[in-house]
Amino acid sequence: MIKSQIGIENFTKNFLRKCGKPFPVSTHEGVAVKAEINYGRLIAKCPFCTGAELIDRNDKRFFCLSCFNKSVNGNWIRVEFPDNLTEIEAVLEQRTETNQNWQHGEEVMFLKSENTKNLGVV
Ligand SMILES: [Zn+2]
Repeated sequence: MIKSQIGIENFTKNFLRKCGKPFPVSTHEGVAVKAEINYGRLIAKCPFCTGAELIDRNDKRFFCLSCFNKSVNGNWIRVEFPDNLTEIEAVLEQRTETNQNWQHGEEVMFLKSENTKNLGVV
């Protein structure tokens, strides 16, 4: 199964407490990031720095633990997930973890054709 950060609110809260940083109280609506799958992990890349974080399919918010979302006053931003995430995951799960990669905009048909070409999976 594609790995996801479950309980991202508690994880973020604990991390920020250890750093002595305030916990974000609201979500900045003007910026969103897109979910992607990287080496079998559900992640989003920070739009403000070079950081990336595991994301939670059940809590569609992003908070960067590198720059602390300073560009949006330390608030959460939204994560956009594809409608067909389950289908994408099913195709990727036929691969080894290091080859479980998907970027926003890549079609399931493309992923399937890669599986056929590289794994012989039809
Ligand atoms: Zn960042």
